[in-house]
Amino acid sequence: MIEAKNLVMRFGNRVAVDGLSFSVAKGSIVGFLGPNGAGKSTTMRMLTGCLVPMAGDATICGHDIVKDRARAQARIGYLPEAANGFAGLTVREFLTFCGEARGLRGAALNDAVARVAADVHLTEALERRLKELSKGWRQRAWFAQALLHDPDVLILDEPTDGLDPNQKERMRAFIRRIAADKAILLSTHILEEAEEICTRAIVVANGRIVADDVPSKLADARGRLAPMFRTLTDGEAAR
Ligand code: ADP
Repeated sequence: MIEAKNLVMRFGNRVAVDGLSFSVAKGSIVGFLGPNGAGKSTTMRMLTGCLVPMAGDATICGHDIVKDRARAQARIGYLPEAANGFAGLTVREFLTFCGEARGLRGAALNDAVARVAADVHLTEALERRLKELSKGWRQRAWFAQALLHDPDVLILDEPTDGLDPNQKERMRAFIRRIAADKAILLSTHILEEAEEICTRAIVVANGRIVADDVPSKLADARGRLAPMFRTLTDGEAAR
């Protein structure tokens, strides 16, 4: 469902993404791991059509993200890193606006807003303004907008960032529950999160993939990813 081929992005003379290729199949939850500055968010921005790759290409459900951007984007739900904005809107107004942008109208729109609010335990906050919400609730509102059109592909940049431990656990359980008929690419700094929910892990360092395998192959005897992560990414130049 997600196919990335030799994606490249530079900012000035800094190479942020250096020829990344991978695919994410239906039913998988792929953890996108790597140190800060490794190129994860930039890759996600290219996969979602927010940035045009300088080389390489990507398809979403067979649609080229540059040449057939609208069709590709219609299949994606995207939670950007540190999502913010629309502070003056209530959660309901925000989700309604995002649903309209996705082409939903009338009863279908109202139903979608109610469904995603229930899915991420946001119903009681629907009439509150985003700026009044604490980080974990705001993050869930942004997660909810990614789910409105029930997309085949979810690209989630640090989805549990800012959530408390209970909220984190609930979000992970929800992601596991919806994964069967979706392709999910999820970045995280929390290796335990990848151990817990990912069916595969891709480790990126300096814009390149340094590992791509099932967690059981990358983990140590106790199922921990940290030793592998340290070995593969330690000594990376400060960026
Ligand atoms: P990660 O998500 O793995 O932390 P990023 O994709 O955010 O990494 O960043 C990769 C590299 O690209 C970093 O060196 C970062 O400073 C640089 N970078 C990202 N976005 C921009 C930008 N808009 N302008 C300049 N440099 C950027």
